[in-house]
Amino acid sequence: MMAAATSSLHLSALLPFPPGLVRRRQRRPPRFSALRFSHPPSQPLRIMADGDPIRKWILEEGGASRITRISSVGGGCINTANRYETDVGSFFVKTNRNIGPEMFEAEAAGLDAMFSTDTIRVPKPWKVGSIPRTRGSYIIMEYIEIGSSRGSQAELGRQLGEMHKTGTTDQGFGFHMDNTIGSTPQHNPWTADWVTFFRDHRLGFQLKLIKEQYGDNDLYAKGQRLLEKLPLLLQGLDNVQPCLLHGDLWSGNVVADSHGSPVILDPACYYGHSEAEFGMSWCAGFDPTFYDAYFKVMPKQPGFEQRTELYKLYHYLNHYNLFGSGYRSSCTNIIDSYLAVAC
Ligand code: ADP
Repeated sequence: MMAAATSSLHLSALLPFPPGLVRRRQRRPPRFSALRFSHPPSQPLRIMADGDPIRKWILEEGGASRITRISSVGGGCINTANRYETDVGSFFVKTNRNIGPEMFEAEAAGLDAMFSTDTIRVPKPWKVGSIPRTRGSYIIMEYIEIGSSRGSQAELGRQLGEMHKTGTTDQGFGFHMDNTIGSTPQHNPWTADWVTFFRDHRLGFQLKLIKEQYGDNDLYAKGQRLLEKLPLLLQGLDNVQPCLLHGDLWSGNVVADSHGSPVILDPACYYGHSEAEFGMSWCAGFDPTFYDAYFKVMPKQPGFEQRTELYKLYHYLNHYNLFGSGYRSSCTNIIDSYLAVAC
């Protein structure tokens, strides 16, 4: 859990990313981890000849007898990524010299949960551990050969729907572990009803963070009025089923493998209302064939359109927290529009 780092944020130095200028893999500034965790940016891990836990795991438990090549994989936002080629195939390894294993443990838990649904391709996580003599950590997972195409949107929609349909729990809304959204802490305590969970642990938490970081009392006050109206705005969802959500589904986290099959990466999983999965749709490029295929598996619920901006609001608030006031007007506009209809 990353919550301990929250109070030491100094994000005002970050340049805002205005809405609409978000580019693939650049939604989050690469040096964000340094700010969030008050550490210097991650340096590539120097592979230690002896006592290297990554080599040790690959050779002792990963079934390999030889590592033939290690090459770096670009495109990440926070960590250093490498492909380890061996005589039994490749492993994908992310390391971060400055962050302990909690972040990768949460990533592994999310990947594992999605992998277990057997619905959409996600890399199987193998091992998370600490890097000796540093504050850092690593994750080893299945290497997936990423293809050049984006894959079929319809297939992505169908498989995501299958994941939502299959990935259920009787524990309520939440997850068995806290995680991060971008690099913002995301709390997932099991909660019996969706409105309470979304109010307290999603919108409410982000609003509090905005107040603490930016002293934005106006937005906070408006947000509190919105939270009071939430039972009204989300009425009819009393019997909503908790679904396993990827939680951060934007274009940078969706790829296709070499056969063109969809792959989703880098999750911020929790069990929530299925529609909350589309909170990042403004950054995801889903086309009509995606939605058609999704709704064939997970039929559209009455009031879907009235809730979409509310679910986007969580991510806009998070972007305000991550990247600054360039996202403030988007947050305000959404809050104002809901306050206008819920008087
Ligand atoms: P970060 O945690 O730094 O954001 P990512 O999870 O985005 O890193 O991964 C960095 C790069 O590695 C991305 O370009 C992504 O497409 C690629 N990648 C991620 N997971 C795998 C995998 N299991 N196999 C192969 N490539 C992967």
